[in-house]
Amino acid sequence: MKFQDKVIRFMYGRNGNDKLNQALFWVYFVLLLLNIFLKSIILWILELLLVALYLFRFLSRNIYRRQRENRGFLKVWNKFTGFFKLQKNKFRDRKTHVYRKCEHCRAVLRLPKKLGKHTVRCPQCGKTFSVKI
Ligand SMILES: [Zn+2]
Repeated sequence: MKFQDKVIRFMYGRNGNDKLNQALFWVYFVLLLLNIFLKSIILWILELLLVALYLFRFLSRNIYRRQRENRGFLKVWNKFTGFFKLQKNKFRDRKTHVYRKCEHCRAVLRLPKKLGKHTVRCPQCGKTFSVKI
């Protein structure tokens, strides 16, 4: 049996690498670099715990549970990255569009930049409200 086949057989039914594990790895990596200068025993223990958690999640057979953890992480992560994506898009579209929040459901709407007062219907909740641009 080839080595690759052995790896595939070993990993079958296991969680493997997901976004949360990738994030754990990067946190570990940053701590590792930081600890080159700080040489702290507490950081070293934290690194060890991170590696243990990483391996546990990687090899875990309870995929349902691991996916739920990953979804929870992604929810927070997407909120964080979504903010920066919105700022980037606002800057990119600053000459042609404006971004406004729906008064009813707080959804962000991208509206063409036409000066004056307009009535807008939110595509998410279907309610109308007026916007001054
Ligand atoms: Zn709405």
